[in-house]
Amino acid sequence: MLFLDTGFRVFILPIRIGHPSQFQYRVFMATQPRSSQETIALFDQYVIPNYRRFPISLVRGEGSTVYDAEGKKYLDLFPGWGCNILGYSPERVIQAVQEQVARLIHVPNTWYMEPQGEFAEALCTRGFGKSFFCNSGAEAVEGAIKLARLHTSENRYKIISFQNGFHGRTYGAVTATAQPKYHQGIGPMVAGFTYAPHNDLDAVRELIDSETAAILIEPVQGEGGVNTPAEGFLQGLRELCDENEMVLIFDEVQTGMGRTGNWFGYQTFGVQPDIMTMAKGIAAGIACGAIIAKDEIAPSLRPGMHASTFGGNPIAMVAGNATIETIESENLLEHCQTMSSQFEEFFTKLKEEIPIIRDLRVCGMMIGIDLTIESAPAVGLAMERGLLLNSTHDTVIRLLPALNVTESEVAQGCEIIADVIREMAESAAPQN
Ligand SMILES: *Cc1c(COP(=O)(O)O)cnc(C)c1O
Repeated sequence: MLFLDTGFRVFILPIRIGHPSQFQYRVFMATQPRSSQETIALFDQYVIPNYRRFPISLVRGEGSTVYDAEGKKYLDLFPGWGCNILGYSPERVIQAVQEQVARLIHVPNTWYMEPQGEFAEALCTRGFGKSFFCNSGAEAVEGAIKLARLHTSENRYKIISFQNGFHGRTYGAVTATAQPKYHQGIGPMVAGFTYAPHNDLDAVRELIDSETAAILIEPVQGEGGVNTPAEGFLQGLRELCDENEMVLIFDEVQTGMGRTGNWFGYQTFGVQPDIMTMAKGIAAGIACGAIIAKDEIAPSLRPGMHASTFGGNPIAMVAGNATIETIESENLLEHCQTMSSQFEEFFTKLKEEIPIIRDLRVCGMMIGIDLTIESAPAVGLAMERGLLLNSTHDTVIRLLPALNVTESEVAQGCEIIADVIREMAESAAPQN
């Protein structure tokens, strides 16, 4: 890379054309990356301010390391909000996308395309049934709700979902999201949704009537605070669905693609849903969503009833295939469980030392450290120390590390979090 005084940088990069052995050198010009402040100024003027953003512009990354525009390095234990399941710049995914983008960028679903067939096969042979592809989690949830209503008898339309669940921001998905803060001011919501407290089987039983079509649940509630299911709860939902001819939908947008140490969260809990939704890490950061439905349910999504223009596009599909290949060839499901134990051991000990840690909830690479005080300050304190993490549901420090996070990164991250929690405990202690 060449820096010129004009403020332009020149890159000369080898570009693969067709066969892996054919390269062409191309010259690229780019302006100097803007500073974080300059990028923030652009946002202030032109981007709708619906997100609370940290005042940092991220420019590149590798594995669990990411750099900001000022060159500061961070260890990211929440990469891509769970989307970057292989961390930053996963090699196979980059290569697959580069090759595909030069061959065919988009093929509409009026044609067949090999990558979509292959990714469907890869998902279904590791899971079950048949796949439908879309571009996001909310879109997958919308499709799953439609499919459940289409599949069950005509009078059935009600969907039961769970308090503190999260299913996305489109109207159906956000209606299913039983958190009043997300409904405020945008009503009326979609008709036909009822909510049960999480882990309360009796409450679910009470809500079921002859019009109930489906139960929708995350195997582990993510945004709601990494809430794991009580022993027997998911199995109980399975039985209620079987007894009442209802469809069990697992929202695996966060728990899917190896996150829990198995390909899908349902395998971790040994309870088979009828339909599952996926997105986030499914294509290692390329936008992609999917619905998987049992063979006998899938045909209810009849031609003409549902579609997605960009859904199943070849770029997302090859990225998804490369994600699965990487997880498999690097034994990342097993690695995920090893790293999970490392986190769990560390924080179990820490919990004994620091009383403001109220609870620890760990499922594979989903980690929630529940405090007796607000967790939001942890984000800034960790960032000062070069660590990125998330705070959710008021009191929970949440980590969604990449499946390929290393042992030393876990150790380093744990020490920083311990420092941060100690500092928070000290400032929360009553002063005299
Ligand atoms: C993030 C998330 C969604 C929404 O996904 P989008 O891609 O943002 O639409 C839905 N369900 C769960 C469980 C999620 O974690």
